Amino acid sequence: MYKTKAYSATSATSKLASATIPRREPTDHDVQIEILFCGVCHSDLHQVRNEWKEVMPTIYPCVPGHEIVGRVTRVGRGVTKFKAGDLAAVGCMVDSDHTCPNCKEGLEQFCPNVTLTYNFPDKHETAPVTYGGYSDSIVVNERFVLRVPSNLSLAGAAPLLCAGITTYSPLRHWGVTKGKKVGVVGLGGLGHMGVKFAHALGAHVVVFTTSPGKTEDALRLGADEVVVSRDAAAMQEHASTFDFILDCVSANHDINAYVNLLARDGNLTLVGAPEKPLALSAFGLIMARRSLSGSPIGGIPETQEMLDFCGKHNITADVEIIPIQKVNEAYDRLLKSDVKYRFSIDMASLKSE
Ligand code: NAP
Ligand code: ZN
Repeated sequence: MYKTKAYSATSATSKLASATIPRREPTDHDVQIEILFCGVCHSDLHQVRNEWKEVMPTIYPCVPGHEIVGRVTRVGRGVTKFKAGDLAAVGCMVDSDHTCPNCKEGLEQFCPNVTLTYNFPDKHETAPVTYGGYSDSIVVNERFVLRVPSNLSLAGAAPLLCAGITTYSPLRHWGVTKGKKVGVVGLGGLGHMGVKFAHALGAHVVVFTTSPGKTEDALRLGADEVVVSRDAAAMQEHASTFDFILDCVSANHDINAYVNLLARDGNLTLVGAPEKPLALSAFGLIMARRSLSGSPIGGIPETQEMLDFCGKHNITADVEIIPIQKVNEAYDRLLKSDVKYRFSIDMASLKSE
């Protein structure tokens, strides 16, 4: 075991602050990574504040962060994919059982024994739970380490590891392609990646936002149209026309308004995970055989596919780079929908703690 620097929360109401955490020495199949950038996902905030206590209660201290890019510093004897000096990335998962039908299909996100990057029981017992990327370094089994295309900026690539794959995966699963009409609800970290991917896949993209001030950005990011969701008449113009809508909203909102925008057999997928249950009217689904579903991140093969797609199309997140010392302020701004469009922490700032 060795010690490394991190930022952690010690309760649902405390601010994130400097701490020292243990990491395991790399075993045969492990890769040790010096973390260079880590994105700030709204899930980090939900988890730190224990807003998902019904489903995944938070164990403190909590070190969040699952949008990790960095440089390999050491590898175990059996590692074949990486060597010291390589760029590497880690997303929301650090292990799974490798034997279940989901793992065999490369859908590790559905493995009943998946280990998430933070706040999950640590199989190696280095600590009670796994600790995430708001840290100097991390040690991960090579199967869960991804390659970053060399043409991408590292600060902008970090958010691909969660916001990127979480939006890419359902767009692909639901067959978004040229000729499809696609809605993206909520222009935050996930939403802005959803717009970039849906546009790159050739769809006609409509952004729904509560922030009129984001209209120009939405068009620049690849939207064909922007609707301010409080404008009932503008919403009505799109009734029953969408093939697919991706809901990326982090707080309670009326999903029925979006169900009603789906065409016959259209699908609304929730990736946003608000604290409280959402109310759904059955009739919106029944009358046009519409469907409602959800989607968690994506498997390791699809995450690599997404990164390679980003390399090919030169896609990264639009980021505001912050030092770790500004992370509490960043959380406050997330709650005000004031992020353009992802905070990316420059981990060099942790060295001064
Ligand atoms: P974010 O950057 O904070 O963006 C959320 C956006 O939702 C805001 O920018 C805002 O967009 C909209 N919004 C916020 N409050 C709203 C309200 N009260 N009513 C309507 N719209 C509102 O968050 P994020 O990091 O993209 O994450 C979004 C959600 O996805 C979170 O719940 C997160 O936990 C979840 N998530 C899920 C997965 C998964 O695997 N399914 C993975 C990562 C994250 P406008 O200003 O445009 O309205
Ligand atoms: Zn995330």
